Amino acid sequence: MTEEKVVIAGGGVAGLYTAWRLVNAGHAPASIELLEAGDRVGGRLWSIQMRSDSSLPAELGGMFLNDQQPLVYGLVRQVFDLDLAPVTPAPDFAWLRGKRFSIEQFADPDILPYQLRPDEQGLSYHALTLLAIERMAPEIKQYWPFNPAGSREQSLAYLRNHRFEGRLLCDWGFWNLMARVISNEAWQALRDVVSTYTLFANWNALDAIVSIVLEQAGKWYRLAHGYQQLPERLAAALREAGVKINLSSPLHLVQRLSRRTGPAFSLEVGVGPDARQIQADRLVLALPLMPIVKLVNRSPDLQSSPLAAQLKSIRALPACKIFLTFDQPWWRDVPDGPGKIQPDTYGVSHTDLPMRQCYYLGVDEASGQGLVMASYADGTAVDFWRALADDNGHAGKLESTLSRRAITEIQSELSEMHGVEVPPPTGGLFIDWAKAPFGGGWHNWQPGYKSWEIAPLMARPDPALPLHVCGEAFSEAQGWTEGALGSAETMLQKEFGLKAPAWLNDSAGSPPPN
Ligand SMILES: Cc1cc2nc3c(=O)[nH]c(=O)nc-3n(C[C@H](O)[C@H](O)[C@H](O)COP(=O)(O)OP(=O)(O)OC[C@H]3O[C@@H](n4cnc5c(N)ncnc54)[C@H](O)[C@@H]3O)c2cc1C
Repeated sequence: MTEEKVVIAGGGVAGLYTAWRLVNAGHAPASIELLEAGDRVGGRLWSIQMRSDSSLPAELGGMFLNDQQPLVYGLVRQVFDLDLAPVTPAPDFAWLRGKRFSIEQFADPDILPYQLRPDEQGLSYHALTLLAIERMAPEIKQYWPFNPAGSREQSLAYLRNHRFEGRLLCDWGFWNLMARVISNEAWQALRDVVSTYTLFANWNALDAIVSIVLEQAGKWYRLAHGYQQLPERLAAALREAGVKINLSSPLHLVQRLSRRTGPAFSLEVGVGPDARQIQADRLVLALPLMPIVKLVNRSPDLQSSPLAAQLKSIRALPACKIFLTFDQPWWRDVPDGPGKIQPDTYGVSHTDLPMRQCYYLGVDEASGQGLVMASYADGTAVDFWRALADDNGHAGKLESTLSRRAITEIQSELSEMHGVEVPPPTGGLFIDWAKAPFGGGWHNWQPGYKSWEIAPLMARPDPALPLHVCGEAFSEAQGWTEGALGSAETMLQKEFGLKAPAWLNDSAGSPPPN
């Protein structure tokens, strides 16, 4: 057993997984300390009950997982055996440019309210996206997942080496490339129908293509009792093993100790009268970008490190959600036609209104209350809701109940897009992930950076310093729990000498038991 003192900052899924893997590999639990700024573990995996008598989870952060995500799927299935619910949304509908149509009708130029060029017409939105990507990377269809005999690694190798107009894909902005290969109307139609500003924004084109083509393969699920179950189970195993998990304990400042032997770091934990100092042989930052930037700004000893040099390679993106409860599942009364939501499905609708996406999460058996994720918005749409969320317009909080004005607005947008009078909700909640201590819902690699080189470097940015970074932010699958776990796993194998877990290779693709 090694007694090296490892301090992990961040009690999200990456930090918890790091501690759990170290303990399972024989690291003494008493030599691991986890610091979490908030009063709960789980970070951006946060499932709440909107009412005490409700069993339907409102997923404030991550919601879905996929059987092609080996770490997530392996943990959920093989290790913790958590209840999975398949996600098979009924045909979606869209309300775009004041027109309501089913997603299948995207291919009908008489219905789609966008002026596409002749060569862009008659395609589903998925086929139009692939047309654009094929024009950027013409051999893409020879590779996995289009070619089942290929592998993810071969697809990545092709995309990393492919040049468009003489320039590597990773040097292009995705929007810049979209503008080269399809019309502006087609780009807007795609951005609106998928209802995300950040996916079609000007982030690293290579990572955007990987995200669209490679990360969407597979069968989708959600955790029946909430995604937060995963970090909670990791935390329970850690507590049982004797690992200290300190809540309300933000890592505030890092100092290097220059002694030849003994701990490498002195850490200031907490602020004000409650601040305390602890020492560490190794420090793991399992944090999003914003808290890392703040830590580097406060810690002169980190400012000239290679870590500081990489902070511009990614950007944090705003994201928010609004949840509403209703006495009645009013969406079941929408007349037949586009806009009709089938019962007992995890349906979703899309709009260019600021609410952007609406998910019909179900009716709680005990209370009879309907639960809707009335808005899932990113990019500039977050500004719209933030300024309404409370009455003074400041909306400085991570999560809050909705002001009267915000409820009036969301009720009006729901009524407009469904073409019915939506009743007043019985409760509402707003979460703004751009607030501290997160700084964004997820992160994007910026054009001009090679994510596949920088991500593994973050496992130890400075070879002279036992400081490690993991988590979704600098991962190769940004926006996903799999990315957070993948970067932790890379760090554990590269820097802590751990072997891949036995459950990893058994899990991908095997269906859950009925
Ligand atoms: C709206 C939304 C939707 C998403 N949808 C999906 C989805 O459907 N499927 C999916 O797989 N993923 C999804 N994700 C992404 C997924 O939730 C994240 O990738 C994952 O939870 C990130 O884990 P992490 O440990 O890297 O970071 P985090 O969960 O952010 O954990 C970091 C932790 O560090 C703490 N912290 C911050 N500062 C300090 C400090 N100074 N000291 C100590 N602790 C600190 C924070 O409180 C937090 O608990 C979504 C995310 C959001 C926001």
